[in-house]
Amino acid sequence: MDILTANDTVGQYPKSWYAATASGPAPFKAAQGALSCDVCIVGAGFTGLSAAVHLADKGYDVILLDAHRVGFGASGRNGGQVGTGQRLDQRALERLVGPDHARALWDLALDAVQLVRDLIHDNAMDCGFSKGIIHADHRKHLVPASRAYAEHLGHVYGYQKIRALGQDEMRHLVGSDAYFGGTLDTGGGHIHPLGFAFCLARLAEKRGVRIFERSKVRELVEDSPAIVRTEQSEIHSEHVVLACNGYLGNLNKQVANRVMPINNFIVATEPLGDAAAKALIRDNHAVADSKFVINYFRLTSDNRLLFGGGESYGYRFPRDIAALVRKPMLEIFPRLKDTKIDYSWGGTLAITMNRMPHFARIRGNILSASGYSGHGVALATLGGKIAAEAIAGQAERFDLMASVPTPRFPGGVALRWPLLVLAMAWFSLRDHL
Ligand SMILES: Cc1cc2nc3c(=O)[nH]c(=O)nc-3n(C[C@H](O)[C@H](O)[C@H](O)COP(=O)(O)OP(=O)(O)OC[C@H]3O[C@@H](n4cnc5c(N)ncnc54)[C@H](O)[C@@H]3O)c2cc1C
Repeated sequence: MDILTANDTVGQYPKSWYAATASGPAPFKAAQGALSCDVCIVGAGFTGLSAAVHLADKGYDVILLDAHRVGFGASGRNGGQVGTGQRLDQRALERLVGPDHARALWDLALDAVQLVRDLIHDNAMDCGFSKGIIHADHRKHLVPASRAYAEHLGHVYGYQKIRALGQDEMRHLVGSDAYFGGTLDTGGGHIHPLGFAFCLARLAEKRGVRIFERSKVRELVEDSPAIVRTEQSEIHSEHVVLACNGYLGNLNKQVANRVMPINNFIVATEPLGDAAAKALIRDNHAVADSKFVINYFRLTSDNRLLFGGGESYGYRFPRDIAALVRKPMLEIFPRLKDTKIDYSWGGTLAITMNRMPHFARIRGNILSASGYSGHGVALATLGGKIAAEAIAGQAERFDLMASVPTPRFPGGVALRWPLLVLAMAWFSLRDHL
């Protein structure tokens, strides 16, 4: 089954609140005939778009291909949360790679958030950046660990933008009895992700990048120059960046063995009005909770609750996404039982075994960056930039990310999905116990 079309029609954005509220560039035509360039980028999400913008800045002749449209994948469908740090917490990273390497990865992750903020600010992008992410503990016994983690970030990393929240303050900020405490991080925030992708595409186009949509890469000949084939074109390119994330399929086996697609779902309610919206989330922060199947939510600019969650481990999206997500939404906010859901959609992200992104040099002239494990708004944007740096000969930051080991999924491409389904079902069962 091809994940690029399992749940979607070629070239059509899902009917999300994002697609209803962002205005994109006019459609780009499909790649046709014999073409050549310095760098061919496959995939126009944050990774590919950012790589394109930064390569064009450095004077490279760039072609950017997407099987569907710009921002069509996870980048245009996600929760919009721009989180601080890597997906793994720093203490786990210290154990995995040692304290010095962990610090370097932390610094890189801070650069990632700053990059998103700078791109938005410097180019007057109309996709907002609202400050603040709350991590909400759904079990009492997790609260001391959250406090200790905020202290750890302060003491060891000098990060002062995160602080612990007790139960009273948490319930004041988030109108739910489901949480016992957690942290508030004012270094992170939330944006309109499809709006951001559209702005990056316009920026890339302005800088001379040739963007082609409805141009699925069917074959990559790993040579020098590399040959990239779509249905209607053959592109000869000195360098290639694979930026396909959860939609990679079998285009490259080495990556596919380490990066696994998984679906996630979001709903947006009807507009709630200012007072009712504030009663859910007082200060317009984004929230992500401590469940294994994470609930994440925030308000939109028109005062809807945008809520992500629900579990489903098939390749195909469930038929009734709204019903799937409504269940955890009502567990957190029972008062919304009569509230209408106006939009519901799904998306495919990519996870790795250790939840750290997989950056790889497939060959001297072919790079891949993916597997952000649900934490890619900032890191994929940075991933594209550091892939551009690596092509330009400054590979330190790409190599730093690539030096984190990414284990293969047991069973490889054939068995990873059924094994993952079993593991996920077990962990999510623990959420309910
Ligand atoms: C529902 C959901 C919620 C999420 N919430 C958050 C969040 O709140 N915060 C956060 O940090 N992260 C979140 N994520 C993860 C985040 O969206 C991703 O990590 C990030 O967008 C990855 O960007 P990307 O460019 O690498 O991949 P994508 O945006 O998925 O882009 C890959 C692109 O490659 C194209 N492509 C694939 N194969 C081919 C091919 N053969 N030929 C041509 N084109 C191809 C696809 O069409 C697609 O457009 C979420 C993801 C989902 C799905």
